[in-house]
Amino acid sequence: ERTDFISYLHQIIDRFDMNVSEKIDLKRDLPGGQYFVYLDKDKMTQVLDNIISNAIKYSPDGGSIRFKVEKQKYQLIISIKDDGPGIAYEKLDKIFERFYRADKARNRKVGGTGLGLAIAKELVEAHHGRIWAKSKEGKGTTILFTLPLMNQKRRNIS
Ligand code: ATP
Ligand code: MG
Repeated sequence: ERTDFISYLHQIIDRFDMNVSEKIDLKRDLPGGQYFVYLDKDKMTQVLDNIISNAIKYSPDGGSIRFKVEKQKYQLIISIKDDGPGIAYEKLDKIFERFYRADKARNRKVGGTGLGLAIAKELVEAHHGRIWAKSKEGKGTTILFTLPLMNQKRRNIS
């Protein structure tokens, strides 16, 4: 359904903030206005839950996660940046594959199946967006995805 992505994302972040605010600082760099996108909210919530749970899971206590939304002409770029351990360059594309887990030793401790980002990719693409990652080992991870903007102007019918 047609949704203002900014207020929707604030709600998602609020929900995580209630649970992790003592350990991790969630920072918001979101525009003030409304930007409408077409969302299957259940599916988009799954995308964000997967990305944010990873960011939390791989963050040190006292770390921070920065949410940013940038508006381009025809799309929004959403990014979620953590200051966890990062991912080696040659593994960056593979993390979106099913059952891929980048660091076996570390992962045994944190748990998971390696499906979260594969599902996120499928669901972002179902919204006609793209998803990718940027990282430097030791310097955190940024997951980015796009969503096409809907026509922003709508006449009131009254
Ligand atoms: P699941 O999500 O199924 O519980 P998972 O978190 O291991 O398991 P994905 O979410 O698909 O699986 O992530 C794949 C792999 O990518 C992870 O195992 C981890 O190695 C790496 N990864 C994902 N997000 C981050 C992050 N924010 N920081 C560091 N590594 C990450
Ligand atoms: Mg995961």
